[in-house]
Amino acid sequence: MKDLATLCLKADLLHFLSETEMEFIPNGMLWIENGNVKKMGTAEFVSKELASDVPIVDYTGKLILPGFIDGHVHAVQTQAIASYGKQLLDWLESYTFPLEQKFEDPQFARSAIRFFLNQLLKNGTTSAAIFPSRHAETSAILFEEASELNMRILAGKTAMDRNAPQALCDETGSTYQENSLLINTYHQKNRLSYLITPRFAITSTPEQLSALGKIKKEYPAMAMQTHISENKDEVSYTKKLFPKAKNYLDVYDREGLLGKGTLLAHGIYLEEEEWSRIAETQTSLVHCPTSNLFLGSGLFNIQKCRDYAIPLALGSDVGGGISFSMLKTAAEAYKVAALQKMKFTARDAFYLLTLGGAKALNIDQFVGNFETGKEADFVIIDPNASELMQARLALAKDIDELLFVLMILGDERNIEAVYLQGEKKSVNNHR
Ligand SMILES: [Zn+2]
Repeated sequence: MKDLATLCLKADLLHFLSETEMEFIPNGMLWIENGNVKKMGTAEFVSKELASDVPIVDYTGKLILPGFIDGHVHAVQTQAIASYGKQLLDWLESYTFPLEQKFEDPQFARSAIRFFLNQLLKNGTTSAAIFPSRHAETSAILFEEASELNMRILAGKTAMDRNAPQALCDETGSTYQENSLLINTYHQKNRLSYLITPRFAITSTPEQLSALGKIKKEYPAMAMQTHISENKDEVSYTKKLFPKAKNYLDVYDREGLLGKGTLLAHGIYLEEEEWSRIAETQTSLVHCPTSNLFLGSGLFNIQKCRDYAIPLALGSDVGGGISFSMLKTAAEAYKVAALQKMKFTARDAFYLLTLGGAKALNIDQFVGNFETGKEADFVIIDPNASELMQARLALAKDIDELLFVLMILGDERNIEAVYLQGEKKSVNNHR
């Protein structure tokens, strides 16, 4: 393997050591050795040991944060974004399923996946839990392209075998084998992780879910990603389809698919028993506010999630969500909390976008903050990227106020550069 980047960056550094401990170091230094964090702190502290041959990159006046983490996004729905608002089930049928069928063509798939990954990076997102289409080839392309970029992603073939167009349904009995093949080829290769990925209860037969449960038994540490309780019609249809299940969650639970790192997107209409079972199994939830508002799904109860101490990530959920920007996603999470008279501070947001998200995805041993030895995925932020932000920030009293303005007004224009393991990947062209 080739040597990874060694360099030192000068800027204001900000990261979290825990949910309640934010560390902000103005005019600090971040020293990267062979792609990993070697040391971070004040310029005086770091420069004492810094070898003279380490190149220094000067971002004075800019903010360096760990790369953002998107806990739920679809690689095959980019062009379904901003499709006139119907509720979930109609929206899937009218816009999403027709688009996903196009991924049958590997050439279309490759160019769409490249565009998608580039959108993540342009928005400062360095890791994501991703749904491709049901085609095994699309998953292969996604893993190959992410690997080429050296991006830490989690993904798995989206399993479906009913209540969708025939072209999007797995052939009977093929789910186990197609998943196994992909797992053998890509799981834990470079920075890739495989996730067992049933789209949601409605589009899987009990037989398909059992096949996925069998995979979970073979790879107990492997997590699942799926959707749950996003929309009232979806919840009642699920109950009809699975009359023997105790509740929606039980459809996944009885196949042994819950546990650490498993990601349940939405969770708006969870029942009390489901909340407590999610907490008990250390399963994670993913809050996707732009999608929930756009599709008129409902308001996620973030306070309940805190009360149960359930690991949480924020998700863009493009194309139900309306932006790849995790800053915009956080701004909508603030509004969803405000509508319910709940607290959601900028610290809450930036924790979830970095270390909190990494914990929910169970990748915090690799990324999420600037602890020594972690992979150096980070984002350079220019808080003054727009005239309006510049004018507003002239009155900001402290870092919390700056972060709040960044969360409410920020977007991809604020992302000046993105680094994966110390290697610069993109510069935004907002100027
Ligand atoms: Zn989704």
